[in-house]
Amino acid sequence: MIINDSNRHKGLRNQLVKVIKEKGIKDRKVLDAISKIPRHLFMDSGFVDFAYQDKPFPIGAEQTISQPYTVAFQSELLQVEPGHKILEIGTGSGYQTAVLIELKAEVYSIERQKELYTKVRKFLPKVGYVPKKLEYGDGYKGMPEYAPFDSIIVTAGAPYLPKTLLGQLKVGGKLVIPIGEDVQVMTVFTRASEKKFEKLEYGDFRFVPMLKEKNNS
Ligand code: SAH
Repeated sequence: MIINDSNRHKGLRNQLVKVIKEKGIKDRKVLDAISKIPRHLFMDSGFVDFAYQDKPFPIGAEQTISQPYTVAFQSELLQVEPGHKILEIGTGSGYQTAVLIELKAEVYSIERQKELYTKVRKFLPKVGYVPKKLEYGDGYKGMPEYAPFDSIIVTAGAPYLPKTLLGQLKVGGKLVIPIGEDVQVMTVFTRASEKKFEKLEYGDFRFVPMLKEKNNS
Protein backbone atom coordinates (compact mmCIF):
# COMPACT_ATOMS: atom_id res chain seq x y z
CA MET A 1 0.00 0.00 0.00
CA ILE A 2 1.30 3.43 -0.92
CA ILE A 3 0.87 5.73 2.02
CA ASN A 4 -0.67 8.85 0.61
CA ASP A 5 -0.25 11.45 3.31
CA SER A 6 0.36 14.88 1.84
CA ASN A 7 1.14 18.27 3.34
CA ARG A 8 -2.49 19.16 2.69
CA HIS A 9 -3.56 16.28 4.93
CA LYS A 10 -1.06 17.37 7.59
CA GLY A 11 -2.43 20.90 7.45
CA LEU A 12 -6.00 19.64 7.85
CA ARG A 13 -4.87 17.53 10.80
CA ASN A 14 -3.35 20.53 12.55
CA GLN A 15 -6.68 22.32 12.09
CA LEU A 16 -8.49 19.33 13.61
CA VAL A 17 -6.14 19.33 16.60
CA LYS A 18 -6.92 23.00 17.10
CA VAL A 19 -10.65 22.28 17.05
CA ILE A 20 -10.51 19.47 19.63
CA LYS A 21 -8.17 21.54 21.81
CA GLU A 22 -10.77 24.32 21.79
CA LYS A 23 -13.38 21.75 22.83
CA GLY A 24 -11.31 21.00 25.93
CA ILE A 25 -8.75 18.26 25.19
CA LYS A 26 -5.52 19.12 27.03
CA ASP A 27 -3.36 15.99 27.03
CA ARG A 28 -0.37 16.87 24.84
CA LYS A 29 0.41 13.24 24.00
CA VAL A 30 -3.15 12.60 22.85
CA LEU A 31 -3.12 15.75 20.70
CA ASP A 32 0.25 14.72 19.23
CA ALA A 33 -1.14 11.27 18.36
CA ILE A 34 -4.10 12.85 16.55
CA SER A 35 -1.76 15.19 14.69
CA LYS A 36 0.33 12.23 13.49
CA ILE A 37 -2.24 9.62 12.44
CA PRO A 38 -3.48 9.81 8.83
CA ARG A 39 -7.19 9.40 9.69
CA HIS A 40 -8.15 9.64 6.01
CA LEU A 41 -6.55 6.23 5.42
CA PHE A 42 -8.91 4.67 7.99
CA MET A 43 -11.92 5.63 5.87
CA ASP A 44 -13.08 4.58 2.41
CA SER A 45 -11.31 6.64 -0.23
CA GLY A 46 -14.51 8.41 -1.32
CA PHE A 47 -14.76 10.08 2.08
CA VAL A 48 -11.25 11.49 2.49
CA ASP A 49 -12.52 15.05 2.33
CA PHE A 50 -14.46 14.41 5.53
CA ALA A 51 -11.57 12.77 7.40
CA TYR A 52 -10.42 15.88 9.24
CA GLN A 53 -13.78 17.20 10.28
CA ASP A 54 -14.62 16.53 13.90
CA LYS A 55 -17.34 14.03 12.99
CA PRO A 56 -18.00 10.30 13.08
CA PHE A 57 -18.22 8.62 9.68
CA PRO A 58 -19.56 5.36 8.18
CA ILE A 59 -16.98 2.57 7.79
CA GLY A 60 -19.31 -0.21 6.53
CA ALA A 61 -21.30 -2.92 8.33
CA GLU A 62 -23.49 -0.11 9.72
CA GLN A 63 -20.61 1.04 11.95
CA THR A 64 -18.75 4.32 12.26
CA ILE A 65 -15.26 5.61 12.94
CA SER A 66 -15.75 7.60 16.15
CA GLN A 67 -15.62 11.38 16.20
CA PRO A 68 -12.00 12.55 16.79
CA TYR A 69 -13.07 14.56 19.87
CA THR A 70 -14.62 11.42 21.37
CA VAL A 71 -11.51 9.36 20.62
CA ALA A 72 -9.37 12.06 22.25
CA PHE A 73 -11.72 12.35 25.24
CA GLN A 74 -11.69 8.61 25.94
CA SER A 75 -7.92 8.42 25.37
CA GLU A 76 -7.38 11.22 27.88
CA LEU A 77 -9.56 9.46 30.47
CA LEU A 78 -7.50 6.28 30.07
CA GLN A 79 -4.33 8.08 31.31
CA VAL A 80 -2.16 5.85 29.17
CA GLU A 81 1.45 5.27 30.24
CA PRO A 82 4.05 3.70 27.92
CA GLY A 83 3.84 -0.09 28.16
CA HIS A 84 0.25 -0.15 29.46
CA LYS A 85 -1.66 -3.24 28.47
CA ILE A 86 -5.02 -2.05 27.15
CA LEU A 87 -8.10 -3.93 26.04
CA GLU A 88 -10.28 -2.21 23.44
CA ILE A 89 -13.83 -3.37 22.73
CA GLY A 90 -14.89 -2.40 19.20
CA THR A 91 -11.85 -2.24 16.88
CA GLY A 92 -13.97 -0.79 14.05
CA SER A 93 -11.69 1.12 11.66
CA GLY A 94 -8.69 0.70 13.96
CA TYR A 95 -8.31 4.46 14.46
CA GLN A 96 -8.67 4.39 18.26
CA THR A 97 -6.31 1.38 18.27
CA ALA A 98 -3.73 3.47 16.39
CA VAL A 99 -4.09 6.33 18.89
CA LEU A 100 -3.36 3.93 21.76
CA ILE A 101 -0.36 2.48 19.92
CA GLU A 102 0.97 6.04 19.34
CA LEU A 103 0.66 6.45 23.14
CA LYS A 104 2.97 3.40 23.37
CA ALA A 105 0.37 1.01 24.77
CA GLU A 106 0.18 -2.70 24.03
CA VAL A 107 -3.28 -3.03 22.52
CA TYR A 108 -5.59 -6.05 22.62
CA SER A 109 -8.75 -5.37 20.62
CA ILE A 110 -12.00 -7.21 19.91
CA GLU A 111 -14.43 -6.65 17.02
CA ARG A 112 -17.71 -8.55 16.53
CA GLN A 113 -18.25 -7.69 12.82
CA LYS A 114 -16.35 -10.21 10.71
CA GLU A 115 -16.11 -7.83 7.76
CA LEU A 116 -14.48 -5.07 9.81
CA TYR A 117 -12.20 -7.47 11.70
CA THR A 118 -10.89 -8.96 8.44
CA LYS A 119 -10.28 -5.52 6.96
CA VAL A 120 -8.59 -3.94 9.98
CA ARG A 121 -6.29 -6.94 10.52
CA LYS A 122 -4.73 -6.40 7.10
CA PHE A 123 -4.86 -2.63 7.22
CA LEU A 124 -3.28 -1.66 10.58
CA PRO A 125 0.17 -3.23 10.03
CA LYS A 126 0.28 -1.66 6.55
CA VAL A 127 0.10 1.80 8.09
CA GLY A 128 2.64 0.88 10.75
CA TYR A 129 0.36 0.13 13.70
CA VAL A 130 0.79 -3.34 15.11
CA PRO A 131 -1.58 -4.34 17.90
CA LYS A 132 -0.59 -7.13 20.31
CA LYS A 133 -3.76 -9.05 19.51
CA LEU A 134 -6.86 -8.59 17.36
CA GLU A 135 -9.78 -10.90 17.99
CA TYR A 136 -13.04 -11.59 16.18
CA GLY A 137 -15.39 -12.12 19.09
CA ASP A 138 -17.85 -10.72 21.58
CA GLY A 139 -16.53 -7.87 23.68
CA TYR A 140 -18.99 -8.59 26.50
CA LYS A 141 -16.70 -11.51 27.33
CA GLY A 142 -13.49 -9.46 27.29
CA MET A 143 -10.23 -11.42 26.88
CA PRO A 144 -9.94 -13.50 30.06
CA GLU A 145 -6.88 -15.34 28.72
CA TYR A 146 -4.88 -12.06 28.53
CA ALA A 147 -6.31 -10.34 31.64
CA PRO A 148 -5.62 -8.40 33.80
CA PHE A 149 -5.35 -5.10 31.90
CA ASP A 150 -4.09 -1.66 32.95
CA SER A 151 -7.21 -0.30 31.33
CA ILE A 152 -10.18 -1.20 29.17
CA ILE A 153 -11.89 1.07 26.66
CA VAL A 154 -15.31 0.35 25.19
CA THR A 155 -15.95 2.22 21.92
CA ALA A 156 -19.60 1.18 21.46
CA GLY A 157 -22.59 2.25 23.57
CA ALA A 158 -23.15 -0.37 26.29
CA PRO A 159 -26.81 -0.70 27.37
CA TYR A 160 -25.54 -1.76 30.82
CA LEU A 161 -22.23 -2.29 32.59
CA PRO A 162 -20.69 -5.66 31.56
CA LYS A 163 -19.39 -6.81 34.98
CA THR A 164 -17.03 -9.34 33.36
CA LEU A 165 -14.92 -6.42 32.14
CA LEU A 166 -14.48 -5.02 35.66
CA GLY A 167 -13.04 -8.37 36.71
CA GLN A 168 -10.38 -8.11 33.98
CA LEU A 169 -8.85 -4.90 35.38
CA LYS A 170 -5.67 -4.71 37.45
CA VAL A 171 -6.03 -3.04 40.84
CA GLY A 172 -5.61 0.67 40.01
CA GLY A 173 -6.87 0.03 36.46
CA LYS A 174 -9.64 1.93 34.68
CA LEU A 175 -12.62 0.95 32.55
CA VAL A 176 -13.76 3.77 30.26
CA ILE A 177 -17.22 2.97 28.96
CA PRO A 178 -20.18 4.88 27.51
CA ILE A 179 -23.31 3.49 29.20
CA GLY A 180 -26.89 3.95 28.03
CA GLU A 181 -29.42 3.09 25.32
CA ASP A 182 -30.05 6.11 23.03
CA VAL A 183 -27.63 8.46 24.73
CA GLN A 184 -24.65 7.22 26.72
CA VAL A 185 -22.98 8.65 29.78
CA MET A 186 -19.20 8.41 29.58
CA THR A 187 -18.31 6.51 32.74
CA VAL A 188 -14.99 5.62 34.32
CA PHE A 189 -14.67 2.79 36.86
CA THR A 190 -11.39 2.64 38.74
CA ARG A 191 -10.52 -0.58 40.54
CA ALA A 192 -9.54 0.79 43.95
CA SER A 193 -8.94 -2.69 45.43
CA GLU A 194 -9.78 -6.30 44.59
CA LYS A 195 -13.44 -5.76 45.49
CA LYS A 196 -13.90 -1.98 45.42
CA PHE A 197 -14.60 0.18 42.34
CA GLU A 198 -14.94 3.96 42.14
CA LYS A 199 -17.26 5.44 39.54
CA LEU A 200 -17.08 8.85 37.86
CA GLU A 201 -19.31 10.22 35.08
CA TYR A 202 -18.26 12.59 32.28
CA GLY A 203 -21.30 13.71 30.29
CA ASP A 204 -23.37 12.52 27.36
CA PHE A 205 -22.16 10.97 24.11
CA ARG A 206 -23.71 9.01 21.25
CA PHE A 207 -22.20 5.74 20.07
CA VAL A 208 -23.34 2.88 17.85
CA PRO A 209 -24.70 0.14 20.13
CA MET A 210 -22.60 -2.55 21.77
CA LEU A 211 -24.31 -5.72 20.53
CA LYS A 212 -24.19 -9.32 21.73
CA GLU A 213 -22.44 -12.27 20.07
CA LYS A 214 -20.35 -12.30 16.90
CA ASN A 215 -21.80 -11.21 13.56
CA ASN A 216 -20.61 -13.06 10.50
CA SER A 217 -21.70 -10.55 7.87
N1 SAH B 1 -12.87 2.25 17.84
C1 SAH B 1 -13.59 2.32 16.60
C2 SAH B 1 -15.05 2.68 16.84
C3 SAH B 1 -15.95 1.88 15.96
S1 SAH B 1 -17.66 2.00 16.39
C4 SAH B 1 -12.93 3.29 15.64
O1 SAH B 1 -12.12 4.11 16.09
O2 SAH B 1 -13.20 3.24 14.44
C5 SAH B 1 -17.86 0.67 17.54
C6 SAH B 1 -17.42 -0.70 17.09
O3 SAH B 1 -17.79 -1.62 18.13
C7 SAH B 1 -18.10 -1.20 15.80
O4 SAH B 1 -17.09 -1.58 14.89
C8 SAH B 1 -18.91 -2.40 16.27
O5 SAH B 1 -19.02 -3.43 15.32
C9 SAH B 1 -18.15 -2.84 17.52
N2 SAH B 1 -18.92 -3.63 18.49
C10 SAH B 1 -20.22 -3.51 18.84
N3 SAH B 1 -20.56 -4.44 19.77
C11 SAH B 1 -19.42 -5.17 20.02
C12 SAH B 1 -19.11 -6.28 20.87
N4 SAH B 1 -20.01 -6.84 21.65
N5 SAH B 1 -17.86 -6.75 20.85
C13 SAH B 1 -16.90 -6.21 20.05
N6 SAH B 1 -17.13 -5.17 19.23
C14 SAH B 1 -18.37 -4.66 19.21
